[in-house]
Amino acid sequence: MKANPSPDLIKVLWDAGVTHYDVASIGEVRLVSATLPEATLCFMHPVKAEEVIAEAYFTHGVRTFSLDSLDELEKIRSATKGATDLNLLVRIKVSSDHSKLSLSTKFGASDDELEQLMFETRQTADAMGLCFHVGSQAMSPAAYAEAMERVRDAIVRTAVTIDIIDVGGGFPSAYPGMEPPALEQYFQVIHDKFEDLPVSYSAELWCEPGRALCAEYSSVVVRVEKRRGQDLYINDGAYGALFDAAHIGWRYPVRLLRAEDSEAAVEDFAFYGPTCDDLDHMVGPFVLPGDVRAGDYIEVGMLGAYGCAMRTAFNGFGVEESVVVSDEPMASLYGFTTEQDSGSNVVRL
Ligand SMILES: *Cc1c(COP(=O)(O)O)cnc(C)c1O
Repeated sequence: MKANPSPDLIKVLWDAGVTHYDVASIGEVRLVSATLPEATLCFMHPVKAEEVIAEAYFTHGVRTFSLDSLDELEKIRSATKGATDLNLLVRIKVSSDHSKLSLSTKFGASDDELEQLMFETRQTADAMGLCFHVGSQAMSPAAYAEAMERVRDAIVRTAVTIDIIDVGGGFPSAYPGMEPPALEQYFQVIHDKFEDLPVSYSAELWCEPGRALCAEYSSVVVRVEKRRGQDLYINDGAYGALFDAAHIGWRYPVRLLRAEDSEAAVEDFAFYGPTCDDLDHMVGPFVLPGDVRAGDYIEVGMLGAYGCAMRTAFNGFGVEESVVVSDEPMASLYGFTTEQDSGSNVVRL
């Protein structure tokens, strides 16, 4: 849900057969419950307020929770009044070395607590799992192979019976300068490692893809308000859907939208967003025809994950209009079979 909380998108996913949703806040719990009343919710934030756990459990029927400390286990026990029907997943620390965005320092059971946490969680849980997150946009399947080794060590060391292995998110999408291997290679590595784990035959394998599921879902169309050399002043930026472009230099595919196609050779551009803040700057580079000018529109693609979800109304900007379209995304890790394109695993940037 974090990557894109759009109710329209989760209905599309539901219709495609996705029945379980990873939520991290009571706002997300309420949103999915209201939009998809039959969905199964998994509360995978390892740090939750007690009243939030209680509302999730008693009001919304949430039975699956993650945790990474004994304190959190105590909170879950107390908030659910000693429930005996819980699926509890202990989050372990794994490396983010293969990923573009680290998620390795904030969460994950500490080494000195892991064993005790696994023993006590086993006593509380109906089904017990281990989960991790290799970091977002993992550029190599090796990230999952290494993380599964950590899982293996934890199981071997404690001999605790494990019912669920949850490999988290991190599955990549395609962006300029970041073309990952095919997703099938990730799945193969994960399946091979899972087969090797000392878990029962009935153990379940879960994942929590965010970016890979929804990056292709939306583009944002912006307007050029001013050109200063190779800098384009546009009407979205660091406080809008282009948060990652500004704050971590993420690149997105761009396309000039003009009634008559430009004939000019392409050049590199940087963007300034609309607010009065110097931080509102995106170095790119964004590759556009050299004659781009004020009044032009630009499609910025692949903003379905961590793009549209990040918009704020800071400085009075953030007004938007959504339009449903049916053309293909600007890049894709999934095969499209349409008239225009019958290839598979096409990456077009
Ligand atoms: C952010 C997050 C995800 C999704 O990560 P992606 O990199 O977008 O796939 C999955 N699980 C948890 C616990 C997360 O915090």
